Amino acid sequence: MITIGEIKKKIITLLNDNNILDSQFEAISMISFSLGINNQKAIIENDLEISNEENRTINKLLEKRINGYPLAYLINEKYFFNEKFFVNKNVLIPRQETEELIEYFFSLNSKESMKNRNILDIGTGSGVISIICKKKYPHSNLLSIDKSQGAIEVAKKNADIKNVFIQFFLDKIETCKIDNIDFVISNPPYLKQSILKNLQTEVLKEPKYALDGGVDGLKIINKIFEWEKNINKNKALQIIIEIDENIKHESKKLAESFYPNKKVQIIDDIAKKPRILSII
Ligand code: GLN
Repeated sequence: MITIGEIKKKIITLLNDNNILDSQFEAISMISFSLGINNQKAIIENDLEISNEENRTINKLLEKRINGYPLAYLINEKYFFNEKFFVNKNVLIPRQETEELIEYFFSLNSKESMKNRNILDIGTGSGVISIICKKKYPHSNLLSIDKSQGAIEVAKKNADIKNVFIQFFLDKIETCKIDNIDFVISNPPYLKQSILKNLQTEVLKEPKYALDGGVDGLKIINKIFEWEKNINKNKALQIIIEIDENIKHESKKLAESFYPNKKVQIIDDIAKKPRILSII
C-alpha cells in the first residue's frame, strides 16, 4: 500500500526530472482526478492510503504525461477565466492569451450596449470565448462556428454544463452563410506552417487545424475578412482577432486593405507581445 503523500512525492520527482515545470499542481491534479476527490483533499490527506487499482491509474497518467501528453487532456479539464471547462484532444487547450483577448473585447463594450447584438465566435473549439461572452452579455445573441464535429460536441457540452444558450454551427468560415453579425471575436489558427514543425511536444498533441494558419499564417484570417465582406456585407462594428508577433505587420496590412475606414490596431498582451488585431 502507498499513501497519497508518497505517490505525490514520486510524481513530483518524476515530473521535475522530465522538466515539467508546474509539478506540484500537476501532481495534485493527477491524484484528485484518479481518486475522484477534490484538489483540497489531495493536498491535505497525505496519510490516506490508495488502492493498487488507483495506483495503477495514476502511473498510467504519469507515463503519458512524461511522454508529452498535456495534463489538460489527461484530466479532461482546464481552467479559463477562473472557470473549469471540459476539454479533450479534439480542441485546443484554452490559453491565458485568449483571456486577454476577451478582456480587451469587454473593455470596449458595456453590458447595455450589447443588448440584442449578434456576436460570432469563429473557430469556437471548446467554446470558451462564446461562453464567457454570453455570461458577460446575457442579452446578446451568441453564435459559434467550428469546422470540427468533435470541437462542436465539446463546446456544446461546456455550454450545457454552464447553462448558457449559444447557437452552434458545424461549418467552415468559407462556406458559412451566417449574416447580420455585429461583433466578431476569434482565436483563429494563425501559426505559419514553417513554425508548426518546431512546436513543443505538448503543443503537437493539439489539433493541427486549430493552429495551422497556412504558409503565411493569414489563411483563416483572410477567409474571415472575405466572409465579413461578401456574406456579412461589412456589418460588423468590431472584429477582434488573436494573433502573434510573427504575423503582426502582415495581419495589420491585410486588415487595412479590407477596412480602409476603420481603426486597425495591434494590441500587446501583458508579456508586451503583439496579441490582438483590433478593427473598430
Ligand atoms: N476558441 C478556442 C480557444 O480560444 C479555440 C481556438 C482554436 O481552436 N484555434 O481556445
